Amino acid sequence: MSHGGGCLCGALRYALSGAPDRAGFCCCADCRKATGSGYIGFLSYPRERVRFSGPTLTYGSPSASGRIALRNSCPVCGSLVFGGDQPNSTNFTIYAGSLDDPSLSQPSLAIFNRDRPAWVGLPPGVARFETIPTG
Ligand SMILES: [Zn+2]
Repeated sequence: MSHGGGCLCGALRYALSGAPDRAGFCCCADCRKATGSGYIGFLSYPRERVRFSGPTLTYGSPSASGRIALRNSCPVCGSLVFGGDQPNSTNFTIYAGSLDDPSLSQPSLAIFNRDRPAWVGLPPGVARFETIPTG
């Protein structure tokens, strides 16, 4: 199974193979600010099952773990598309709203629930973690 997605204008694209390792919502304040929305829907994919094409504009900010989190958007239309360091990361975070067919994301968890605005609801059955699940 292979599926694709990308930015609003189509300059930055990706192809994914198989199911994600994890799918969920990140409700952290950084994702809220970066998107101008209440959360980011995300899919975790190992490097060997993602192929990117097109230009990226990369922005780094300190994450909760103290590392620099890199977010990649399209330099043409500004859409946020994925998180990770294109040359170096072993895993990428695909932002689920960029899927061509968003029904392919079946979120099972919500992280940083402590930062979730009251006006963002979560579907039933989604496991909630106040920060990041441990273990
Ligand atoms: Zn674009």
